Amino acid sequence: MTDCIFCKITSGDIPSYKIYEDDYTYAFLDISQVAKGHTLVVPKKHSQDLLETEPEVLAHVIKSVQKVAQMVDKALKPDGINIVQNNRTFADQSVFHLHFHIMPRYQNDIDGFGYKWQTHSDAFDADAMTALADQIKHA
Ligand code: 5GP
Ligand code: ZN
Repeated sequence: MTDCIFCKITSGDIPSYKIYEDDYTYAFLDISQVAKGHTLVVPKKHSQDLLETEPEVLAHVIKSVQKVAQMVDKALKPDGINIVQNNRTFADQSVFHLHFHIMPRYQNDIDGFGYKWQTHSDAFDADAMTALADQIKHA
């Protein structure tokens, strides 16, 4: 896609700090490091987000996510690693070419990761949970 920044990165038209590349995928350091080693993994074939990606492409991408996470883990020895993947603006997607964030987490280093996860278990009783599961199951 001509106007896509990640397509330009995978084709080499704009520079990146490349970590890994194979026939289908490309991994590079995120320009804004949330934590040391914050890396993006993308397919070379453009698709907007996870929901719109061909399963075969996604299979290649997720294998590369695992491989690159293992590389980051071996090289930087973080205390943990989050894999984050945003879909659509409302979910904080800002670049509309599928990408997975590999985010190393450190006890005693820079860590700009913030995720407030507030659960609402009491908002859904058993009937509501059953109805919810049925609704999704039958879609
Ligand atoms: P999103 O918010 O869409 O999940 O993540 C997009 C990510 O792409 C952001 O973390 C942002 O820092 C990164 N990014 C945007 N433009 C560039 C770029 O030109 N080069 C690199 N390496 N990362 C970029
Ligand atoms: Zn693209």
